[in-house]
Amino acid sequence: MNLRIGNGYDIHRLVPGRPLIIGGQRLEHPEGLGLDGHSDADVLVHAVMDALLGALSLGDIGKYFPPEDPRWRGANSLLLLEQVIGLVRERGWRVGNVDAVLIAERPKLKPHIEAMRSAIAARLGVDPDQVGVKATTNEKLGPCGREEGIACHAVALLTRP
Ligand code: MG
Repeated sequence: MNLRIGNGYDIHRLVPGRPLIIGGQRLEHPEGLGLDGHSDADVLVHAVMDALLGALSLGDIGKYFPPEDPRWRGANSLLLLEQVIGLVRERGWRVGNVDAVLIAERPKLKPHIEAMRSAIAARLGVDPDQVGVKATTNEKLGPCGREEGIACHAVALLTRP
């Protein structure tokens, strides 16, 4: 079969004293909060990586970039994404498309969506048209609604000639 689909999910806590980096973009939260994590905690890129790995049953990002490994402390997740797409390519697969939805009450993500798409597309070596990024609030429900964290769901379709 020359099509594979994968899905990914991630969530990171919003905390003071951390940068807010989503889709490779540095954003400003109105309360100055950022995402906690071992790497740069880029929840969007993490979900996309897990979708890509999942499509080929290659496990998850924890397998390749374990949080106890000091090499990944503060890591730029876009560079990790380059490594993941390398694993996909070396197996003869290409990205058909990726689609993601971010769940966050604040800050407003819409002004940054195009830059996020472009950054991810560039690392994947595809056209921005092949990378969908959407954002929704959680209607103040649950941990994302209470602004305890920001979550992201992603799917990836891979093709093989
Ligand atoms: Mg993560």
